[in-house]
Amino acid sequence: MREATLAIHAHQRGARNAPVMTPIYLSSTYQWESFEEVPEWTYSREGHPNRAELESVVAALEGGKYGVAFASGVAGIGAALELAKSGDHVLVARDIYGGTYNLAKHVLPNHGVEVGFFDSLCPNSVAEGAQPNTKLLVFETPTNPTLQICDIEGVISQAKLLGITTVFDNTFATPVLQKPLEFGADVVCHSTTKYLGGHSDVVGGVVVTSDPDIHRHLLSTATIVGGVPGPFDAWLVCRGIKSLVPRMRMHCESALQVAQFLAAHPKVKKVNHPGLPDHPGHQLAKRQMRAFGAMLSFEIDGSAHDAMTFGKKCRIFKMAASLGGVESLISYPTKMSHAGLTEKERISRGIPPTLLRVSIGLEDPADLLEDLEQALAAG
Ligand code: PLP
Repeated sequence: MREATLAIHAHQRGARNAPVMTPIYLSSTYQWESFEEVPEWTYSREGHPNRAELESVVAALEGGKYGVAFASGVAGIGAALELAKSGDHVLVARDIYGGTYNLAKHVLPNHGVEVGFFDSLCPNSVAEGAQPNTKLLVFETPTNPTLQICDIEGVISQAKLLGITTVFDNTFATPVLQKPLEFGADVVCHSTTKYLGGHSDVVGGVVVTSDPDIHRHLLSTATIVGGVPGPFDAWLVCRGIKSLVPRMRMHCESALQVAQFLAAHPKVKKVNHPGLPDHPGHQLAKRQMRAFGAMLSFEIDGSAHDAMTFGKKCRIFKMAASLGGVESLISYPTKMSHAGLTEKERISRGIPPTLLRVSIGLEDPADLLEDLEQALAAG
């Protein structure tokens, strides 16, 4: 099956007269027919039909053998990071989602795991940062909020030479735009809260791998630690995924239009979007992505105050954290996702106080351009 079909039919159960949509199995526990044989479903923390459907659909879209669903994207990343044990070293991309940074900085050391950082834009820095005990490497692309593009294959091949297991966060791109397992990644993480769910109404995560040992580890972490999704949450994400392919097409087309509009606007100093030909990762993105994604950030040609108050002038864009929903969102990294960094750290990462990040939704792009035009004209 091709991708758009897989998103809808990957999890087919052929019972006669079955409902077209999988029902929501709102039960915490399941009956046994006899105590001689363990049934498929026993207790919802260990698994349930809605979670199984979600896991198999995301695994199919990523081209992986196994998926394990979690109660949030961060819970899934945390489970993947737990592949590192006491005495191991983990290499984390310097440009990484803040929640992953927090896990690396504040949770792994409590488990006796050492953490080091590397520059994911420069695959050679893997060897420079690696230690003899480096077990895992974690990275993502496009990066947040500057939308830099890392060479997935380049980073992974360097890690493989050193026998390091690679964990890749594919939340921004989704499997529709890039499939990290094809580039050799061992583990792919998703916050299904974003594009996979797609409607800003559910928090969740799925981790995919083709390695049976990693799968066993993820499954036992999910069951033992218990950060798993309930039936309704899993069902909502499955419903969202059915329209993922056409949604991503429109998200990406509109984002490119918005990026081009902003790049040509006199009140905008800089636009970060890999679809723009002058973006430093444009050629690489063309090679490893099927489209350029629907996230962008831009610097207002004005003061920090102008950027901080820009969202209030917008009529359609809503000021909120998160991304990947049908509605366009605008966020201010200085006060939101990157508030924990010092100003110096933010500037060194290309996050000046005039930077705004935008997640392009599924509104008519002409309305989005008009909204930005009037907000920029308003001062
Ligand atoms: N990965 C990325 C790239 C994200 O942007 C986020 C959330 O913003 C997460 C993971 C964490 O997802 P969740 O909020 O579902 O835990």
